[in-house]
Amino acid sequence: MPLTPEQIIEITTIINQEIEQLKSNIAHLEEATKPIALDNSIGRLSRMDAIGGKGVNDSLLENNRMRMIALEKALLRIETPFYGTCKNCRGQIAYNRLKAIPEATHCSNCNI
Ligand SMILES: [Zn+2]
Repeated sequence: MPLTPEQIIEITTIINQEIEQLKSNIAHLEEATKPIALDNSIGRLSRMDAIGGKGVNDSLLENNRMRMIALEKALLRIETPFYGTCKNCRGQIAYNRLKAIPEATHCSNCNI
């Protein structure tokens, strides 16, 4: 059964909220992943810790950016009849799955 207009509105709202959240995460992570100054006075060991933490933040930043792109694509797709249709089996993706993962392009059976 295809999504009802009400369900599409609800998912659109969820996507917009998640994009806002991601924007704020990305802004914080960009601040946290600024290059570490060479002349800082925190000492060598703390500096190694700072570099380790930067690596974690870099990958978080990357994940947040990827998710944001996926959600923006979902926002464009939701206007088309293809949204909510599994790319593999062409079946309808369950509404609860779309609410949890609005950018899903596969149903839970086909998602490997
Ligand atoms: Zn499928």
